[in-house]
Amino acid sequence: MDVVFVSSEMVPFATTGGLGDVLGSLPKEIAKLGHRVSVFLPKYKRITKKGFTLEPVGEKIHVPLGSEVETASIFSLKFGELKIFFIGHNEYFDRDELYGTPMGDYPDNDRRFTLFQRATVEALKRLKIKPDIVHCHDWQTGLIPVYLKTLYQGDPFFKKTKTLFTIHNLAYQGNFPPDSMPVTGLSWDEFRFERLEFYGKVSFLKGGLVYSDALTTVSERYAEEIQTPGFGCGLEAVLARRKGDLFGIVNGIDPSEWDPEHEKEIPANFTAKDLEGKKLCKQALQKENHLKVDPKIPLFAFIGRLVDQKGLDILAPIVEDMAKENWQLIILGTGAEEYHKALRVLQKRHPEHLGLNITFDDKMAKRIYAGADLFLTPSRYEPCGLGPMFALRLGTVPIVRETGGLVDTVQEFNPKSGHGNGFVFSGYESRDLLETMRRAVSVYQNQKAWTKLIRNGMICDFSWAKSARRYIMLYERAERKSVKI
Ligand code: ADP
Repeated sequence: MDVVFVSSEMVPFATTGGLGDVLGSLPKEIAKLGHRVSVFLPKYKRITKKGFTLEPVGEKIHVPLGSEVETASIFSLKFGELKIFFIGHNEYFDRDELYGTPMGDYPDNDRRFTLFQRATVEALKRLKIKPDIVHCHDWQTGLIPVYLKTLYQGDPFFKKTKTLFTIHNLAYQGNFPPDSMPVTGLSWDEFRFERLEFYGKVSFLKGGLVYSDALTTVSERYAEEIQTPGFGCGLEAVLARRKGDLFGIVNGIDPSEWDPEHEKEIPANFTAKDLEGKKLCKQALQKENHLKVDPKIPLFAFIGRLVDQKGLDILAPIVEDMAKENWQLIILGTGAEEYHKALRVLQKRHPEHLGLNITFDDKMAKRIYAGADLFLTPSRYEPCGLGPMFALRLGTVPIVRETGGLVDTVQEFNPKSGHGNGFVFSGYESRDLLETMRRAVSVYQNQKAWTKLIRNGMICDFSWAKSARRYIMLYERAERKSVKI
């Protein structure tokens, strides 16, 4: 099959979280299974800053955006088995961030991502890439299935093209005022409840949910959750209507990228059999964060976007308790300004117990995943949650809330039977988290049980092979069964 991925993020080019990680590994896996794979991304400033040399290809593309016509360029890069194409538009994508600053989203995200999507569809034609499947990801690509079933419906070039849409996080919807409708170039007829209209706004995400031939999300539990009012973010009815075409496929990780035996970015290597190196990683991490270097102090870590979803509102209040217990916590993340401020205050108050890193740094992330004892994911909701998988691979024990993909990844450790790979709690209160941390620390103090627990985690198989095959089955299904609008 000719498979085209369209996404706003991909490791190693540009990422803010799990979406970028998935694009960094799934297309490779699909290519390994014998398919021809290309990926389309926006050409952000940071991509050339990182030193990737992109080749311009073909002529410029003219894209109508409302009453104006914008010009986009196409660039390409051969990346292993993959061909990556970048949509260039300096005014829209030559910026420091992908979607906005800590103060809020860029106000022209409707124009930026409409341009990206229309230029991508046009680029496919220009480059003569006739996809069997266009695999779209999140709201930034939600209009592509709409375009293919409206503006391009009669176009023989896309006659056999089917679409699959993956929801990485339903809470990010790309909702814009009705004025954005003409920007998209779609008819006002699409602006109705059964299609793109969502509480008076035009929703790019809803476009993807309604118009794609099949839908997936990144874990089986989240696929069920999003059909309920508690998790559906207002789209539960739309999803329940598409229940028969909605599938949960858990994300994987690339075991060669997360390999403590050979990883170069960590101070010492280790294996499930020989954990000596992990002790050195902890020591170095304590030093790097100006914490007391002491192997006996339980060292907790949190890595993630500093936003409401990630449970910071239940984590922040217990920093005080952690200090009293003489535990240590390292936080790495960026996000909402209010969290930056609150965490800085806590760090000033407890410098010996809180290491704070408000930045995005994937190398530091690896040092933390390798050096910490425990990894906290107290999320309010979590579509998949890659952090705990990385932590497990690098011998760090996860503490997770029982929601979404975390349920598929982490099972409570039973010191008697020796089964399980972490600790799980269900309530969403600081005290639920704190009690679970205490439970974990009591196991931590029993060296034999703790070593068993670390080993259980390190040997878990989170590789992509099984999930990639499930995607192929869905591509084939989409070829047979397409949605009629
Ligand atoms: P989400 O997709 O909601 O952001 P995931 O846990 O699935 O959450 O994926 C987050 C990914 O982003 C992980 O690879 C994590 O290590 C990475 N990450 C998040 N914040 C940072 C940061 N500040 N620095 C480095 N990596 C980060």
